[in-house]
Amino acid sequence: MKLIRFGEPGKEKPGLLLDDGRRVDASAAARDYDEIFFGSGGLETLAQWSAENAAKAPEVDPKVRLGSPVARPSKLLCIGLNFRDHAAETNAPLPEEPVLFSKATSALSGPYDNVIIPRGSEQTDWEVEIAVVIGKRASYITETQAAEHIAGYILHNDVSERSFQKDRGGQWVKGKSADSFAPLGPFMATPGEITDVNNLAMWLTLNGEKMQDGNTSNLIFNIPHIVSYLSQFMSLLPGDVISTGTPAGVGMGMNPPRYLSPGDVVELGIEGLGSSRQNVVAYNP
Ligand code: ZN
Repeated sequence: MKLIRFGEPGKEKPGLLLDDGRRVDASAAARDYDEIFFGSGGLETLAQWSAENAAKAPEVDPKVRLGSPVARPSKLLCIGLNFRDHAAETNAPLPEEPVLFSKATSALSGPYDNVIIPRGSEQTDWEVEIAVVIGKRASYITETQAAEHIAGYILHNDVSERSFQKDRGGQWVKGKSADSFAPLGPFMATPGEITDVNNLAMWLTLNGEKMQDGNTSNLIFNIPHIVSYLSQFMSLLPGDVISTGTPAGVGMGMNPPRYLSPGDVVELGIEGLGSSRQNVVAYNP
């Protein structure tokens, strides 16, 4: 299944993207795609409903906005420096254990929403990533148990303000958390939609020019390892989102560095997870 949420920001309703490309309203089967949904067998209920009803469910106009495919989670966690070529371009040593940081969950936005350059920013940057959605509470799980705790996968742009991230003291979270810095979607694919999550092409363009061209096969720490690893430090709750790191080709790694300006257009995609597009705009109170 491909789960979508549609409607105005904060008022999204649950839906499905069907194989024939139609979007349908799934409100009859779910209140929202949130912690309660994932934690109470909602995906199974939805699958059953979908098999019987999706083809005749109310259609959603293709012009209606898509929001993040999952509702605001309890945690939005990210792994840093998880591709060798990206660690190299940022002059960072290869990590011996996964580098963990968080993004504010208020940064979440839809796949075609604008990216807003925050006030005072001169170094807003892009990062195409595959994000994992947790389906079941995970605490001290092994790598082999990871699969049963995963609800699905989503395309994510881990938008980052490099000066806020690196020059302002403390943790990376300052540079990762501005409003609109986490466009998720267009949809969450359940694991059955993906043949091999460890071999998916991923790409990002800026104004049509290819910037990032990677593959999930090059992750230093793969997805089962990441889910197991994080669960040694905290309970991962249903609906939590974990973004797994970006390949080379970010603006910070260029010579000279290249950052986003109002009017820029960022497009990104991952094989099997669709593509998204964000227009870049200035902050405007
Ligand atoms: Zn990232």
